[in-house]
Amino acid sequence: MENSICTIEQLKNFIDLSPKEEKKLKQITNKHPMCVTPYYLSLIDWDDPDDPIRKMAIPSLNELNLQGSYDTSGEAENTKMSGLQHKYHETALILATNKCATYCRHCFRKRLVGLQTKEIIERLEDAAEYIKQHEHVNNVLVSGGDPLVLENGIIEQILSILSDIPQIKFIRFGSRAPVTFPSRFEDDELLSILSRYSRPDRRIYVVTQFNHSNEITKQSIKAVDNLIKSGVIVNNQAVLLKGVNDNPMTLANLLNSLVSIGVNPYYIFQCRPVKRVKHNFQVPLCKGIEIIEKAKEHCNGHSKRFKYIMSHITGKIEILGIFDDEIYFKYHQAKNRKNLGKIFKRPVDESAGWLDDFKSTSVRVLDAAPYLL
Ligand code: SF4
Repeated sequence: MENSICTIEQLKNFIDLSPKEEKKLKQITNKHPMCVTPYYLSLIDWDDPDDPIRKMAIPSLNELNLQGSYDTSGEAENTKMSGLQHKYHETALILATNKCATYCRHCFRKRLVGLQTKEIIERLEDAAEYIKQHEHVNNVLVSGGDPLVLENGIIEQILSILSDIPQIKFIRFGSRAPVTFPSRFEDDELLSILSRYSRPDRRIYVVTQFNHSNEITKQSIKAVDNLIKSGVIVNNQAVLLKGVNDNPMTLANLLNSLVSIGVNPYYIFQCRPVKRVKHNFQVPLCKGIEIIEKAKEHCNGHSKRFKYIMSHITGKIEILGIFDDEIYFKYHQAKNRKNLGKIFKRPVDESAGWLDDFKSTSVRVLDAAPYLL
């Protein structure tokens, strides 16, 4: 990570920039830092201006577009103490760090990654106490930033404290390190810590984010293999991203390759309407449904187990499909538990990229969810 490319000056060794472009990119990286590991950088084909890895890792002038917001799923209102969020009944979320190996340009926590923030956990013991007092919390997601770039000692401390909570059934790490920094998983000490805490009756999960099959390389396959050999279960949460994987065959190749290497396709997320991200990356929902359904035609049962999900302020909403000019949705997870499992629909709007983009006057509710009334 010490050899990462983190300045526009360094970037100029790879691409030509006019003085105007250079100035604007510096403005962007002052606001949202750039950092790309040498490994991830090596995956970019610099002769291809549309290279998908380049789009995910290298800042672009499209980030000057400020449509959207920095907190699209209500993280502030779910924060119980600095670094601890509790939105869904059974799951607690800990933000363990603001650092990542590579800062993804499409990150939905762009507001904090690589920046000074008060949103990171201060005292893990206090978070553990909160969880103990909420006995229905049966799993913890440790995220950030990327918690698996933390020092081994800190990772062990997190596991030790969380494992002491009797009702916790499993612990998840949200980490893109297998994708952007796979050599992290050649560290025997880290693997031995994960192996010690991933017991047969209480597994450790790593939820990673492969978005394109160009990210599936000899090195990332090895990283996944080392995690699996350490008893860790590896799931994938891809994001549907314009110019990266918004093509049925690209997506199908990714999903099929993931299954081959032992990574379970878990979710495909609709890109959130985040400032400096929405304009650059979001695919409209109607187009997203079409891409995903066509991709599924090239998938086997295992590679199409995922759900297409919008992580909305009201809950995780599955995007089911289109029938008779209406889009159908279903609450997979809900902040208000009364909405769990509820199905609702909206008239097709080709330009809508998020639930809030549909005109509320035209809402037709199948099974009334309070948010929709
Ligand atoms: S690794 Fe995850 S948290 Fe970090 S910038 Fe990428 S998407 Fe955001």
